[in-house]
Amino acid sequence: MIKCPKCGAELADGTTVCPKCGAPMAPSPATLKAETAPAAGKAPLDSKIAGALAGGIIGIVACIIGIFFAGIICGCIAIATGITGIITSTKAMKEGKRGGLTMAALIVSIVSVGFGAIILILSIISTILLTMAAVA
Ligand SMILES: [Zn+2]
Repeated sequence: MIKCPKCGAELADGTTVCPKCGAPMAPSPATLKAETAPAAGKAPLDSKIAGALAGGIIGIVACIIGIFFAGIICGCIAIATGITGIITSTKAMKEGKRGGLTMAALIVSIVSVGFGAIILILSIISTILLTMAAVA
């Protein structure tokens, strides 16, 4: 529970506007920290962008594993993590976070999706060919 700073009404967590007096709620300490951190000077490691970057890297690793086995699964993982990374990093760019880390996350994510798509398509083709060979 949170308390309205204006009228003191008790509100559910996550409420953005007080239904009683209409006062906007103060952002949570986490949001406040994320917003004020860039002003501190040193570029802080945005956890979301870092997550997108890590996701993209995982996607690329999945692709490399996918070359050897479970290409369809690995390809899907790479595409999923890559798309998530693209969404996260483009969102961050719209919010004005155009740092090198955001760019890196976006590039890695795009590579992950592209690489993942190639692995997925090749795996499906090879699976079809193997199935056909097994049947014939
Ligand atoms: Zn209120």
